[in-house]
Amino acid sequence: MLQINSFVFNPFGENTYVIFDETKECVIIDPGCYTASEEDRLFGYIDQHQLKPLMVINTHGHVDHVVGNNAVKRRYGIPVAAHSDTHPDFTQAKRQAVWLGFQPVGDIDLPDVDLQDDEVIKIGESSLEVICTPGHARGSISLYAPVEGWVFTGDALFCRSVGRTDLPGGDFEELRESIRGRLFTLPNDTEVFSGHGESTTIGEEKDFNPYVAV
Ligand SMILES: [Zn+2]
Ligand SMILES: [Zn+2]
Repeated sequence: MLQINSFVFNPFGENTYVIFDETKECVIIDPGCYTASEEDRLFGYIDQHQLKPLMVINTHGHVDHVVGNNAVKRRYGIPVAAHSDTHPDFTQAKRQAVWLGFQPVGDIDLPDVDLQDDEVIKIGESSLEVICTPGHARGSISLYAPVEGWVFTGDALFCRSVGRTDLPGGDFEELRESIRGRLFTLPNDTEVFSGHGESTTIGEEKDFNPYVAV
């Protein structure tokens, strides 16, 4: 069974998740650590629990989700995995940082590994499935842990909200289709861990989300 630990990082209050199982193998989803003290919190947790990082996985390429990638790569020598459609956002992350009011950030490396729809990622004895959920950003993915009943949705679906669609590559119709067609088909008790804010469940969002309720 997977275990989860979350951190809230950077001026956008971005949720970074570390998930691991009994083998202590772990992945870091969307490392948004931005300051030295945020990096220390993330690395301190990983080191203290003697976790073995396998890879970084990015749900999409917006700067608040990828700004810590290079620091994690450097420290643990691990690859970054994301959908190949995210590459334009990685290339523009430096410029996005300016639009979004961040302090200037350095170049962010392109992902090392391309993830495909329905691909299964192994973490020790456990697994995550890739679900393509574009609409908020190009190449946005969600990550589903079927045994634990969890889904990491990045900025596609939030508790009672959805991701903005006014940034380059955003499309509200596409986002609604991703949520209704790919996320709302998961079991109602699936716990949703979003890129910002608190967790929720698929069933609650089907009933109460003002943008996509069915
Ligand atoms: Zn985003
Ligand atoms: Zn975000």
